[in-house]
Amino acid sequence: MITNRIMEYLEGPGRDVDLEQLTVATGHIRASLQRNLGVDRDTGSRKVRLPRPSGTFACPRRMIFDALGLETEGYGWRARMTFTHGDMTEAMGVLLFRQAMAARGESDRIISPAADGEQLHLSAMLDPADYGLTGAPIHLQGSVDMSLKGHGDAEELVDWKSSSRYAFQNMQAAITDPDHKWWKKEERGYIAQVRLYMMMARKLGRGPQDRGYLVFVCKDTGHVAECAIERDDVKEADLIRVLLWARENIEHAHERRAIVLEGAGFNELDSDAGNAETDAVLEDWTRKNIPRPQWATDSIKHAGASRGVQRPDGTKGPCLEIDTNATPNSWRCNYCPHTARCFPDFAVVALSKPVWRTNNPPNK
Ligand code: SF4
Repeated sequence: MITNRIMEYLEGPGRDVDLEQLTVATGHIRASLQRNLGVDRDTGSRKVRLPRPSGTFACPRRMIFDALGLETEGYGWRARMTFTHGDMTEAMGVLLFRQAMAARGESDRIISPAADGEQLHLSAMLDPADYGLTGAPIHLQGSVDMSLKGHGDAEELVDWKSSSRYAFQNMQAAITDPDHKWWKKEERGYIAQVRLYMMMARKLGRGPQDRGYLVFVCKDTGHVAECAIERDDVKEADLIRVLLWARENIEHAHERRAIVLEGAGFNELDSDAGNAETDAVLEDWTRKNIPRPQWATDSIKHAGASRGVQRPDGTKGPCLEIDTNATPNSWRCNYCPHTARCFPDFAVVALSKPVWRTNNPPNK
């Protein structure tokens, strides 16, 4: 629906871009450039962070590291470039879709962002009882890229993604193949994000939320494709189980954090309290209690045994490599601010598909 409208528009006569919408799009890009490339960019910080739909569901360990308020690494140059691309894609996608719908006289089908660019912000208490589970309601918040009047005028939520050709092809193949590995790979990633938004919106009385969308734009080829995320009560209940697990373990983590910080003379109520010593203690506690997920552990292989391969420092030789093909989720560590905690000797080699390798030969 979204892709077809955009193609139809771009192949047609077009129309002038409304000045207000142009200002909204450039404002979005300007904010991203400042956030990712300016002096205020995130260079690492210490702050207690709780799970959110757009972030941490793929890795239970990351949820706990985040909840402990350990100092993050700050995003590297490659992540900054990627995030900037992502924001530009979203701004372009929303503007393009607005143009397409205005050209058809159907602007009223876009519920959000509002004309002034304000996105739909959801803040909901998800009740486990609604899914046949026990536990107190769980508070989640998030902002949705786009919200539309879809089939039968029901609201449908949309998230835009900028992707590599590799990721795009996988998603495109999955649209017609219900057994494609992409579905499993994204069930705790992009799909979880849209599913949680749908669950939150339904809870807030915004209709049945039977379908949401992920729209991918391929950075390499300019292709656009959308994937419908259909409501699935079993998978929604699985996400509630993850949230219940997270809440229980985050409570344990917060108790541990309070003990460690108090012992070191910090006020545990300060979200950014702590230092390298308290981080080391809490890191160690997390490692013992929450191992790296299997997809992150099983995927380390020997590379370049005979002739050697390119390593992060530019030399060639044998090394260890994270095999991102081995298990469906392993690439997720790429954009985690705790990689040095889980993979202390690994760094990225920027090949056409980036890989994580060590500089040193593997220990035999
Ligand atoms: S580096 Fe990977 S395994 Fe470790 S916390 Fe981050 S996402 Fe999880």
